[in-house]
Amino acid sequence: MLIWTGSIRRESESVLFLDRDGVINRDSPHYIKHWGEVEFYPDALDSLRWLRERGIATILISNQSGLGRGIIAWKDFWEMHERMVAAIREHGGDIMAAFFCPHRPDEGCSCRKPKPGMILTASHLFSFPVERTFMIGDRWKDVAAMIQAGGTGVMLNREGRSGCQDHGAVGLPRVPVYPTLLSAVTRLPWSETAPPASSAMNRGDR
Ligand SMILES: [Mg+2]
Ligand SMILES: [Zn+2]
Repeated sequence: MLIWTGSIRRESESVLFLDRDGVINRDSPHYIKHWGEVEFYPDALDSLRWLRERGIATILISNQSGLGRGIIAWKDFWEMHERMVAAIREHGGDIMAAFFCPHRPDEGCSCRKPKPGMILTASHLFSFPVERTFMIGDRWKDVAAMIQAGGTGVMLNREGRSGCQDHGAVGLPRVPVYPTLLSAVTRLPWSETAPPASSAMNRGDR
């Protein structure tokens, strides 16, 4: 599991998990291999600004098996990541942290979605309850990872793909589906994600 951190979480902040490819930038069946292939969805940049303005910290959770397959060069990968974060910040948004699984499916790791490893590690590292967070992704694997971790999965269906609601086939409950990231982030019930006051109270008890 690769972990990149960009900023410290404030205890007052809600947290949102986002898949990367197909959510922030256009996905490709040939993998997104370097910065030249990154094409941001305009509403994604607006969404990240909207989130930052409201004090909602964003964490990327992304399978990148192209690394383990030798299709994506490590140097290109990290350069692309740094440039993506810089572009997001330039637009007024931010990324607090990013978790990537570099493994191939046959390696049987515990981080590749639909396994919940990256989400659970993130909640542990940044001390927030997964039950109070959402994960927005464009594949059932994203939703499944979040449900296994104990949080709420939200499906993005940008291309109007049919079968997006067909989670019954993979044993998942029905989840909310939105056509754009902006429509999802502006409509999610953020009041339910407010951090519990207990952490401050516990300290006071001691
Ligand atoms: Mg995706
Ligand atoms: Zn992995």
